Amino acid sequence: MSKKKGKKKKSPQKVSLKNFIEYVCLGCKIVEKVPKEVVEYFDMMDDGDTSIPPRFSCESCGAEMFPKTI
Ligand SMILES: [Zn+2]
Repeated sequence: MSKKKGKKKKSPQKVSLKNFIEYVCLGCKIVEKVPKEVVEYFDMMDDGDTSIPPRFSCESCGAEMFPKTI
C-alpha cells in the first residue's frame, strides 16, 4: 500500500496584475503604477530596509515620487 503524499508547493509570489503600487509625483502630480515586485526589488537594493518604500523620480519632471497607498 503506497500512498503518495500530495505536497502542495507554495508559490512564493503569485504574479498578479493587480499588484501595483501607485506612486504620485510631488512635482506634476502624475500618478504612476509601479509593479510591486519592482518596488520590492528596489527595496532590497536599498540597504535591505523594507519598512521604507523606495522612491522613484518622475520621468516627466524629475521630482520625487512617493507611494500613494501608505
Ligand atoms: Zn513629475
